[in-house]
Amino acid sequence: MEQITHFINGKFESGSQVNWIDNIEPATGKVYSIIANAQEEIVNKAVIAAEFAFDNWSNASRSFRSACLNKLANLVEQNLPQFAAAETKDNGKPLHVATAVDIPRAISNLRFFASAILHQSTEAHEDDQLAINFTLRQPIGVVACISPWNLPLYLFTWKVAPALAVGNTVVAKPSEITPYTAFLLSKLINDAGFPAGVFNIVHGTGVDCGEALVNHPKVKAITFTGGTKTGSRIASIAAPQFKKLSLELGGKNPTLVFDDCDFDATVSEVARSSFSNQGQICLCGSRILIQRNIYNRFRDALIEKVKKIKVGQPFNPDVQMGALVSATQLEKVKAFVQQALQDGGMLLTGGNQIYLSEEFEHGYYFEPTVFEGLNNQSAINQEEVFGPVITLQVFDNVDEAIAIANDSNYGLAASVWTQNITTANRVAEKLKTGIVWINCWMLRDLRTPFGGMKNSGVGREGGWEAIRFFTEAKNVCIKK
Ligand code: NDP
Repeated sequence: MEQITHFINGKFESGSQVNWIDNIEPATGKVYSIIANAQEEIVNKAVIAAEFAFDNWSNASRSFRSACLNKLANLVEQNLPQFAAAETKDNGKPLHVATAVDIPRAISNLRFFASAILHQSTEAHEDDQLAINFTLRQPIGVVACISPWNLPLYLFTWKVAPALAVGNTVVAKPSEITPYTAFLLSKLINDAGFPAGVFNIVHGTGVDCGEALVNHPKVKAITFTGGTKTGSRIASIAAPQFKKLSLELGGKNPTLVFDDCDFDATVSEVARSSFSNQGQICLCGSRILIQRNIYNRFRDALIEKVKKIKVGQPFNPDVQMGALVSATQLEKVKAFVQQALQDGGMLLTGGNQIYLSEEFEHGYYFEPTVFEGLNNQSAINQEEVFGPVITLQVFDNVDEAIAIANDSNYGLAASVWTQNITTANRVAEKLKTGIVWINCWMLRDLRTPFGGMKNSGVGREGGWEAIRFFTEAKNVCIKK
């Protein structure tokens, strides 16, 4: 069985007392590789290697750092089919999605920050008579990058690329549920030209490996994407140690459909924004709010569309939804569906596990599921399912739509569907979310600030926001 091992100081290793964890293929439910679960000893070794490499890397020219990231991007691109197949096997997402979205975006992340660092500038504040101040933005030191399982290489590179570009050294931990593409990436790091110790990858559970990393006194900043509860736990460890912290957390995103929307296009996009990646994107809409006078027509058209979504084994090019990521996630989705039924929800379509045949019979498949008749206070409208389950709710006017949308502890993203620019602007201004899409969803420009309000996170990443997070600002004042 293949072994997924850590990459520390330019070499692969598994540690002296290895506790191996099973790595399961969601499409089949079978173990297909084993993961070395890093304990403190290994995490410490990786952090020490990163600390040792920091001086040289932070003093290396921007063009050298940029070239390493670009070379890594090129190497991933040359191996794109292998990366995409690995992502599908590890995560359960359709192969065409991994091929067209996940891996290309990982390549773009590396290239974007390779370029950004060459264009970085900083502020100067000139006083009329006395002084001129300018801001130095300097790398912080060893940065921990912790990423989730839903968009494995995509989110992993979103964190490591800016951290490395500005001159930090990195110890990164992918989710233990989907470690494989980070492992593949580690095989390319030396060839890309990164000096030993600059970019280290450790594997293992959140409780063992993740927490040892967060707790390590030499780790000066932590960028984390994952669940809100985990984010809170990480903050409770990091804050008393005054570590810099960026948290990209969960969501319960509203989709606001107004009666003047472009009807057919909106139906299609709402279906896509709800069930892409099996509903396992933090940005997926899960509370669909529809204006009363089109409610019935929109609901019926949406249900017709959802019923046509083909769920199947993810290597089949015709499927739109593959397997959920794990048995745990499948059980969580089932429990939410039961709760919604108990709360009086009307099941319009879906609600059941799907059993495929032959080698896929033990895979984690679930129907795309739509409920109506549940008010916004019900569990399914307040808690993140992170799976293929949405609810429909009705509203009468703009103010009511905004009120329902904002009635949530989360505040990550929203989409608004209307042909009226005044409505669009007003709603965008009033929504308490970090991201608002108007007549679109998941259109991403990597220069824009990315992140959530309320329990959806602290701080922003993307573009200059990322460059700011991964550096310390130092003001220098020169007397005239
Ligand atoms: P988790 O919070 O369970 O895990 C995220 C990462 O943190 C994993 O690598 C995990 O390791 C690790 N981890 C878990 N516990 C700890 C700990 N105590 N200390 C340090 N690290 C720890 O999230 P999921 O992987 O389940 O991802 C789904 C969540 O991520 C959803 O809530 C989703 O909304 C959110 N998300 C947010 C995004 C955003 O940009 N706002 C984007 C994508 C997802 P391991 O898995 O090995 O246990």
